[in-house]
Amino acid sequence: MTGVPGGFRLDGEVAVVTGASSGLGAHFARLLASAGAAVAIGARRAEELETVRRSILADGGRCVAVATDVSDPARCRALVDAAVTEWGRVDVLVNNAGVGYGARAEKDDPGRAAGLLEVNLLGAYQMAVAAGRVMIDAGRGGSIINIASALGLTAGSVPQAAYSASKAGLMGLTRDLAAQWSGRHGIRVNTLAPGYFASEMTAPLLEHEQGLADAVARIPLGRFGDQEELAGPLLLLASRAGSYITGTTLCVDGGWTMH
Ligand code: NAP
Repeated sequence: MTGVPGGFRLDGEVAVVTGASSGLGAHFARLLASAGAAVAIGARRAEELETVRRSILADGGRCVAVATDVSDPARCRALVDAAVTEWGRVDVLVNNAGVGYGARAEKDDPGRAAGLLEVNLLGAYQMAVAAGRVMIDAGRGGSIINIASALGLTAGSVPQAAYSASKAGLMGLTRDLAAQWSGRHGIRVNTLAPGYFASEMTAPLLEHEQGLADAVARIPLGRFGDQEELAGPLLLLASRAGSYITGTTLCVDGGWTMH
């Protein structure tokens, strides 16, 4: 019987996940640990991060937690260093940390927009450089997954230009890093673009009846996604199952961006 070489498993590998104190990031960290990876998790809220770490340990996984603000390059390096100190390598980086807010562009505060870009885009860049250097030095390749959004490809029902720009920017970051590192160093770089999933970030939308109806009306599958529906796509990009995929955007959005 033929099968996927190495399957979707990550046994013996080490993953770094940012923004793992809640929502999709916490889910990704647990998922990667259940696939066999040791996981270094980072976010600003140390207490929430510790709760995630304990849940991974309770399930038999390996995890180290490091308070990290990805807008600080030194903290990005500290998170990657923690993985190297603990397990001697980094194979997978999930650039998931992100913030968002709705605002009409003409009324938006440029300082707030700059702060968002610093986290969503520059933070991901700094994390990719920190992890990429370790992967390049080790010579074993790796996988970097930038968590963008369908809003990097299309406009939504809520005005949020800074957020959309940051997510479109991640797709450009993905392509250029893939061009630089895939052939030369065996580091695959891809974007995962979720549609709508319930989380702290989308709670205001879920609580707004008309906003929710407008959002769902744009989605051919007619509903928000379930976090579990991101598991296969994330593991595909992270593992050897996706060994011929680089520089691309995988949309997991119920068909929202098909048009
Ligand atoms: P969430 O629960 O609010 O998670 C955001 C995470 O990012 C939190 O863990 C937060 O932790 C972390 N974070 C924020 N600023 C940070 C910083 N400066 N440094 C380090 N970590 C930081 O929302 P979510 O929906 O799970 O979002 C996760 C990612 O998915 C985001 O990039 C988001 O844009 C993307 N996404 C989500 C959806 C969706 O429908 N939920 C759709 C498309 C894309 P701390 O506050 O502890 O730092």
